[in-house]
Amino acid sequence: MDHFLYRDGRLHAEAIAIDDIADHVGTPVYVYSTATLERHYGVFRSALDGIDPLVCYAVKANGNIAVIRTLARLGAGADVVSGGEMRSALAAGVPPDRIVFSGVGKSRDEMAEALRAGILQINVESEPELEALSEVAVSLGRQAPAAIRINPDIDAHTHAKITTGRSENKFGIEWTAATAVFAKATALPGISLRGLAIHIGSQLADLEPFRQAFHRVRDLTTMLRANGHSIDTLDLGGGLGIPYGDDASPLPSPMQYAEVVKQTVADLECRLIFEPGRVLAGNAGVLVTRVLYVKNGATRTFVIVDAAMNDLLRPTLYGARHAIVPVREPDATTGHTVVDVVGPICESGDTFAGDIALPPVKAGDLLAIRTAGAYGAAMASSYNVRPLVAEVMVNGNAFAVIRERGTIDELLARQHLPAWLADDAPPRITKDAILST
Ligand SMILES: *Cc1c(COP(=O)(O)O)cnc(C)c1O
Repeated sequence: MDHFLYRDGRLHAEAIAIDDIADHVGTPVYVYSTATLERHYGVFRSALDGIDPLVCYAVKANGNIAVIRTLARLGAGADVVSGGEMRSALAAGVPPDRIVFSGVGKSRDEMAEALRAGILQINVESEPELEALSEVAVSLGRQAPAAIRINPDIDAHTHAKITTGRSENKFGIEWTAATAVFAKATALPGISLRGLAIHIGSQLADLEPFRQAFHRVRDLTTMLRANGHSIDTLDLGGGLGIPYGDDASPLPSPMQYAEVVKQTVADLECRLIFEPGRVLAGNAGVLVTRVLYVKNGATRTFVIVDAAMNDLLRPTLYGARHAIVPVREPDATTGHTVVDVVGPICESGDTFAGDIALPPVKAGDLLAIRTAGAYGAAMASSYNVRPLVAEVMVNGNAFAVIRERGTIDELLARQHLPAWLADDAPPRITKDAILST
């Protein structure tokens, strides 16, 4: 359920007409719905009623501080994977004791910043990282609150680029090594181990991998406790999938996911942490784009829009198929034509949808690419020297720009010509010298 609906023939985000936003802010532009974000958080959180969870929103799904703050006001913490994300969470007002730091390659600077900020927990993903964290903590005169992220070697049955829980993936410490790593951590002066963490992948369409992974966590907890370690915290990661519009079967609901949690780990008397990203933010955003040209190619019709893979990478990177709808509601009698919706970037991969049925569109029309709230703006770049995309948040009948569109001047201002390329610098090799060889 989301709050992007047609009213009087125009697609709205809550009470705001999308074409009004496009007129004010220009395109391409991401539009987020506060009510949808709140609803998704509410559904996820209430599914876990009875087990007193800490829901740490995975900031990498959408790191805009307005999005983080909307969720933080409802009680969410933050799962961060870089110093930048940690600073974003703090800037958005997430209390440090609700921030978890994950990721396979934290630098010593990031560790020190996290320890100084007093965050809840650092999830450690390798033995060398554990040693580094201990050293950094000792140098600050502290003990680092840590959990060991284990790799349960379970196939999440998701896209290869976002599966993280197989032994061949770079994430976590192989589960069979957990006992040895815990023994080692106990001997490190800067580490205070709290428990275990896992995250087996993203966009999971099936509960079975969660069930297997949580069982593994359960077995390890029992075993580690038998070895004398205290396990107070289990961080179960994120990963719940969401519908993108072309799903073969219905996706598991937060209620069904919570049921698996309750059946596997809820009785271990641990504090349970969850790190949902996509399931909170995905449906809460659309990418609005304007049609530049309609080109009738030899074999296909191309709808060329002003958004591109630098604004929304998921179709190019994961072959994701986002539903695309016209902002002006087509009347029920209009037929559809099959088109390719493509961006202006000089790569064939810059295609949002191949063979998609759309009502007739013409230059100047607006389209909304749906389910773009997670891993959309967060992955945007300025490839092809296209300024970073703008973001708008709607709340009822109000909207605000929450990230300004970048500018080309800003991109050029970061670049510098070295002295030897200055106007008055002599060329190292002259054109004549090249021509005479
Ligand atoms: C990406 C990530 C998440 C969030 O995954 P979603 O599929 O968006 O829920 C949670 N935890 C960790 C460690 C991650 O890397």
